[in-house]
Amino acid sequence: MKSSGRSEASPPRSRGYLRQYELVERVLAYQPDADEEALNKAYVFTTLRHGQQLRHSGDPYYAHPVAVAGLLTELKMDQATIIAGLLHDTVEDTDATVEDIRRLFGDAVADLVDGVTKLPKLSGDGPRQKQAENFQKFILATTRDIRVLIVKLADRLHNMRTIEFMPRQESRLRIARETIDIYAPLARRVGLSIYATELEDHAFRIINPEAYEAIVLRLDELLSDDRATVARIHSDIENVMRQRGVAGELYGRMKRPYSIWRKLETKSISFKDLGDVFAYRLIVSSVDECYRALAAAHQQWAVLSERFKDYISVPKPNGYRSLHTTFLGPGNRRVELQIRTAEMNAIAERGVAAHWTYKNSRYGFDAEAARAVGIDAEAELTAFADMLTHGAEPEEFLEHAKLQMYRDSVFVFTPKGKLVKLPAGSTPLDFAYAVHSEIGDSTVGARINNVERPLRTALENGDVVEILRGPAPAAHANWEGLAVTGRARSAIRRLTRSAERGEFIAIGSRLIDHALRRIGLEPSEVSRPEMAERAGFDRFEALSEAVGRGRLSTADLLSVAFPGRDDPARQQGSVEADPAPLLVAGDGLTPGVTLHLAECCSPLPGDRIVGLLAPERGIEVHVIDCARLGEHEEASETWIDLRWKPREAAGGDVLAVGRIHVTTANRRGALAVLFKAVSDAQGNIINIKTLKRSVDFFDFEFDIEVEDSRRLTQIVAAIRALSVVDRAERIRG
Ligand code: MN
Repeated sequence: MKSSGRSEASPPRSRGYLRQYELVERVLAYQPDADEEALNKAYVFTTLRHGQQLRHSGDPYYAHPVAVAGLLTELKMDQATIIAGLLHDTVEDTDATVEDIRRLFGDAVADLVDGVTKLPKLSGDGPRQKQAENFQKFILATTRDIRVLIVKLADRLHNMRTIEFMPRQESRLRIARETIDIYAPLARRVGLSIYATELEDHAFRIINPEAYEAIVLRLDELLSDDRATVARIHSDIENVMRQRGVAGELYGRMKRPYSIWRKLETKSISFKDLGDVFAYRLIVSSVDECYRALAAAHQQWAVLSERFKDYISVPKPNGYRSLHTTFLGPGNRRVELQIRTAEMNAIAERGVAAHWTYKNSRYGFDAEAARAVGIDAEAELTAFADMLTHGAEPEEFLEHAKLQMYRDSVFVFTPKGKLVKLPAGSTPLDFAYAVHSEIGDSTVGARINNVERPLRTALENGDVVEILRGPAPAAHANWEGLAVTGRARSAIRRLTRSAERGEFIAIGSRLIDHALRRIGLEPSEVSRPEMAERAGFDRFEALSEAVGRGRLSTADLLSVAFPGRDDPARQQGSVEADPAPLLVAGDGLTPGVTLHLAECCSPLPGDRIVGLLAPERGIEVHVIDCARLGEHEEASETWIDLRWKPREAAGGDVLAVGRIHVTTANRRGALAVLFKAVSDAQGNIINIKTLKRSVDFFDFEFDIEVEDSRRLTQIVAAIRALSVVDRAERIRG
């Protein structure tokens, strides 16, 4: 038994670039009858044409096409593809023309270079319509010759390997997004999983450097804690195989950062629930040997049977074949082992590209062999193109296409036995909307194979799904995340939007009532339509929605709708009539002195406080660690000792106002969830200020009426516990 610790996922990276003779030798190694002269000519052509052009890295430009050609030799692509790799940028970036190339290198190479040059630029942003059209053209172009796609993917891979040299962060981000949204899924679609994996990891590092670093760091820690165990498992597996007469080569490999991150993100599980981050792969010589190796492992160790998969007898739709087993290995450690032949491994890693070989004494794509193992990438791309061409809305196809690329399908049944095809990972909600939107809208639960299961359950092949329906359409704010299909998600979005609007209207209406009482008006005696009109809204609902969403503050509303009225919030910079005189006591306070709670730190009963004598403003009450106090440190004579009065002395239910800063995910319904949590924790939100709303986050400040600081602490804790909340903190100056 041979052993190797190399990971197949990180191909060799050389400094410097591939020399002309090295490239030619590499091709000759697998295609001995390749046209050496043509390869040499192409190498010289690209270096001359790109001439003095430089990459952002400072390397000569031709280092890039040479590297792309080098990547293509690792895939053992035919000579025409290697030459196309060398020339792929000459038409776009130099004065060479397709006709020059046709004359010098023939039709096959010229058509490939032309194909790569004319591929539309794909991008993950810009108008959806445009994106979708370009994607459609792209797919159509690559359908004619899959090699065009392979060259394009190698081009992208090299660009991602060198992306740190891109000078502008925006460009790096844009390219990384395209890569993760479009190129990596395309690579996966044609089975080029080593490209897909590496593209994803590079893009992930650019898009989310903190998460990437955190995962890599954690992996390093785990590995260094674990080195001895990993080595022991490795040698135990080897020994068992040797004893039972199985010959093969064992590889250990670390799971990839991006795939770990996706699991952490989509399944909301923690690092330790991921199981072992190390996995093993045994490469043997034949299908028989695969099963003998499997038997050897199963005779030695206890199998976790639910994780056993035989993709040899039932290959995945993309042609992937392998045995997967997980057992309790040495020290009761969960060990994941994949067993496959070298041929299966080549297909698992390189997919469609694994099929360039000699057939009838010609080196080329062996379509028959590819189809025999279930790979028909060209047919798949054609089906794709068909789908894109015959449709009303290109955008829908883009969404569909992205989904279809990411996931294989899952087939499930209605209780009456009707087959429903969904993307894998679909939940009962996707199923419900796929059957009928009315069913989706009124879903309250699901039974899968006669057992009631949570709506987040991922459906599996063959499941019989029965939807439990409520009397009326109702969607929960968080349900959108429970669906994967565009159809279900947009329906849920529509439904929550209308439900959510109702909630904001109710919240706003409460805030308005509260504000009216503050200026001495009884809400029932105020005409709502008139008030709305004075504030510039045609209906009261629109006004209260604006207030509820924090787009209009109650103070602004009062000042336009009731301009003559005194609003204590305006005068004192606090939203509520200042309760300071009722709450705060101090020795040597002059009776009748103006006393108010500072807005910067909003002191609450229970906080340690100090008074600051401010010219013309009386005494401001601050919390002792208010940042503003620093400005007055020198003038210690203006500081006054203060304390809170006991509650009863303050007259029982006097409330003060605390201010908190909350960052939530910018998700529909987040604010409504937050309001509910605050009121459940017995706080009363009296004002909202939206600070920032970005694609991902929503930042606001809340003023909350509470009796003391302990209550506010409880409220902040309750808010932090919400899954939509990223950060919540009390503001103290
Ligand atoms: Mn290029």
